[in-house]
Amino acid sequence: RAPLSEVDADVANIIEAEKVRQRDGIELIASENMVSAAVMAAQGSVLTNKYAEGYPGRRYYGGCVEVDKVETLAIERVKKMFGAEFANVQPHSGANANQAAFMALVRPGDTVLGMSLAAGGHLTHGAAPNYSGKWFNAVQYGVRKEDGLLDYEEMERLAREAKPKLIVAGGSAYPRVIDFARFRAIADEVGAFLMVDMAHFAGLVAAGLYPSPVPHAHVVTSTTHKTLRGPRGGLILTNDADLAKKINSAVFPGLQGGPLMHVIAAKAVAFGEALRPDFIDYQKAVAENARVLAETLVERGFDIVTGGTDCHLILVDLRPKGVTGRAAERSLERAGITANKNAIPFDPEKPAITSGIRLGSPAATARGFGAAEFREVGVMIDEVLSALAKVGEEGCPKTEQDVHARVKALCARFPIYA
Ligand code: PLP
Repeated sequence: RAPLSEVDADVANIIEAEKVRQRDGIELIASENMVSAAVMAAQGSVLTNKYAEGYPGRRYYGGCVEVDKVETLAIERVKKMFGAEFANVQPHSGANANQAAFMALVRPGDTVLGMSLAAGGHLTHGAAPNYSGKWFNAVQYGVRKEDGLLDYEEMERLAREAKPKLIVAGGSAYPRVIDFARFRAIADEVGAFLMVDMAHFAGLVAAGLYPSPVPHAHVVTSTTHKTLRGPRGGLILTNDADLAKKINSAVFPGLQGGPLMHVIAAKAVAFGEALRPDFIDYQKAVAENARVLAETLVERGFDIVTGGTDCHLILVDLRPKGVTGRAAERSLERAGITANKNAIPFDPEKPAITSGIRLGSPAATARGFGAAEFREVGVMIDEVLSALAKVGEEGCPKTEQDVHARVKALCARFPIYA
């Protein structure tokens, strides 16, 4: 019954310090967001105590009457949100969701075709260090050198040559709309399943602001914590009853044990929030703010991969500014702006250095930043990185401190988690 600060001051202090960091800094990591207090309350609830291996109505434990209701709510809400016939909301994370989808669709040794990490794909789409690259014959497509756009011709050529059993679309650093119908056409031609990982843009899909992969893909996977603004976790959708059975078996007992019922409850809350009309306003602001940030940076001489964005994220090519991704990430962090270094397509730098940074609008938009604030964010990024370019790796302490003060003042106008 005692508060955390009395039971464990060490952990309580860390949580408090992280709260201050989130409150006083501008969060631009494209895969992050800030959940509502309601989502957090559900996640920090007694449901964390409950074992519930199995599925609603078919559990391996007693006492599941209440958690059955909450998992059913999450399933029904997410099906409604995306117009899908089947949903599994148990994957602990996006990587787990993808692994379960692989387990349902292909066998180790089969050929899978996905977007390379270097071009903006995700580790779980066939990258060498991941199970998807180790256990499968992974073939990888990329983007075009001239404009950074997905190279559909290369993807189709590789599909015809390699005859994959599975084609994966979606990624972590691709800022443009993906032509899912074109992916499905080539999948049908070569006899492959199509899986779309919509982790990054799922919130925009839910709001009708990005084309839905659900009518095109055999299976759609997602995280729940990026644009969707839910707790950390994963989900899997399909319209195929046969595949739905295989997906359920792959998640449990194939890969996971007991589902995290407190997280599933938080997913149900987030899906409920996403079904309300104000979620569309939020997602419109997410997309608009990313566009404004890209525009502001272009006006100041930055090169944006593909020239802009159709979603919540932008990938900045820092080479014209003469700074690396690693130095930019560190300097921005000292100025109170959090972003991540990110390889740009055909990056000449090592993955630990990179020539780019990835910026995203979901988290700052969630706290209320609008176009004017994102313009100011773009101006501050330019000030920090222009100073970095002048003075070198260590950055300019005066500029960083000056921007940090402005960042704090801006954040104070948009308080979070009071
Ligand atoms: N899929 C995509 C496209 C992602 O960007 C990510 C995470 O960044 C994942 C899957 C993995 O999600 P998680 O970190 O929850 O395992």
